[in-house]
This record gives sequence, C-alpha cells and structure tokens, in this order.
Amino acid sequence: MKQFQIGCHLSASKGFLSMGQEAISIGANTFQFFTRNPRGGQAKDIDVKDIDAFLAFAKEHQIETILAHAPYTLNACAADSGLRMFARRTMADDIRRMEFLPGNMYNFHPGSHVKQGVDVGVNYIAELLNDVIFEQQTTTILLETMSGKGSEVGRSFEELRAIIDKVKLEEKLGVCLDTCHVYDAGYDIVNRLDDVLNEFDHILGLNRLKAIHINDSKNPFESHKDRHELIGNGYIGEEAMKRIVNHPQLTHLPFYLETPNDLQGYAREIALLKSWKEGI
Ligand code: FE
Ligand code: FE
Ligand code: ZN
Repeated sequence: MKQFQIGCHLSASKGFLSMGQEAISIGANTFQFFTRNPRGGQAKDIDVKDIDAFLAFAKEHQIETILAHAPYTLNACAADSGLRMFARRTMADDIRRMEFLPGNMYNFHPGSHVKQGVDVGVNYIAELLNDVIFEQQTTTILLETMSGKGSEVGRSFEELRAIIDKVKLEEKLGVCLDTCHVYDAGYDIVNRLDDVLNEFDHILGLNRLKAIHINDSKNPFESHKDRHELIGNGYIGEEAMKRIVNHPQLTHLPFYLETPNDLQGYAREIALLKSWKEGI
C-alpha cells in the first residue's frame, strides 16, 4: 500500500534541505512552500548545493512530490496590463526554478477579474498559461479551487474547466482542491462528499486532481470568505475530515495543511490525521 502523503505549509527562508528536515521532524513526508514572499518580490537565487542536498535527503526519507505555491499578489487576470506582465514574469521564473526539482507541482490562485467578468478573466489566465508553459516542462501546474471571495475566478469546477479548455499544453495542468475553499464556495463536502467528487469527475475528471489542501473553515457553508481554521474546530468538522482523508478516490493524493498553526501545531495535526487513516 502506498504511504499516506501528508505535509503542511513551511517557510522557505532557509532553503530546501531545511524544509525537508523540518517536514520529517514533524512527521510529514511532503510539504508546501512559497516560491517567494507571498506578497510578491524577488525570489532568492537557486542554490544548486542546497537542491542536491535536498534531493538526496528526500530520497533517503521517502519525501515524494512537493508543492510550490505562487505568491498571492500574482493576478493572471488583472485589468492592468503591467500587473498581468508581472504575473507572467513571476510564473515563468517560478517554473524555471521548479525545473531544478523535476517532476514536482506548482499551485496558483487563478486570479481575480475585478469587474471585467469571468469570461475576460478566464481568457487572460489561459493566455498567461499558454505563454509560460513549455513542452519539456516537468512541473505540473495546479489551479486551486477558490472560495469565490470578491471576484475570484475558480469558484466553481466549471470555471476551472473553462481555463483548462483554452490551454494548449493542458496535460501540464492539474487541480488542487482546497477543502476550506470548496466548502465556502458551496460544495457540500460535509453532507455530500460523494456527490461533490462525482461532480468534479464529471466536469474536470478526477485524474486532474493532484493535491488536497486540507483546512477546516472558520465560516459556514457557502460563505465565500476563505478563512482557514484548525482541523476539527471549524464548520467542516472532524467527521467530514475523517471521510475526506479516507475516501478511496482521494487516498493516493498528497494532503497539505494550511491551518493557522506553528510547527508544533502542525506536528499535532499531522499526527491526528495519521491516527484517522484506516488500515495503516
Ligand atoms: Fe492557496
Ligand atoms: Fe489553499
Ligand atoms: Zn485559503
């Protein structure tokens, strides 16, 4: 049986080897990190020594796929062409860096259309992806399911489908399902998990699903708020979380916590999720 892939969001400030060690120290076997300051700015130079040390460490400790997260400031469908240019440059540079760690994943928030309408937003996002994705790329780019706060694109499976349909190298694209976001968006993963996954399969194909952000929500169903809560303390709750980590259609995927926690808190939640896994 394949190992349960579980991790959390870690600070990238000390490099890849340090993140790998930190992950192992809290019982994780994968992790997520920001490619640069989440509010934007320059990325650190690639440190080949650190990458080599990480790759050796990862092999030794069975760290599998890791997940990079784009900065929040990246808005692929901003109305301002300068901001779209910034998003394009940032993503192209992030992908180039991720290619030093072949075969991993890069997640981004599709963007906010800010009064331009969803269709315009979808077109800009697909345009950017068509510009930055290249044939030899080994990094899978993940579109994150969004809560629908403000004018976020990606609040429904259909909106993600519309983006994917316009991308030429669509085989380089996957989806990251954020449990807090989809619940806030109006997908009832508490009472109708099977239906939601069937809908996902029907519209996007479950083979498109590459990662889960496992977060509880501070807000009730369909609130479009996007405030993460500790596992079991929010509106999604412990029982639904147990069903999610044990669902046969999800069990092979990597799960990443993005709950409001310090490292010790993450260690506790990782132990909790592991204790819920059936048959291990
Ligand atoms: Fe995110
Ligand atoms: Fe997320
Ligand atoms: Zn969120």
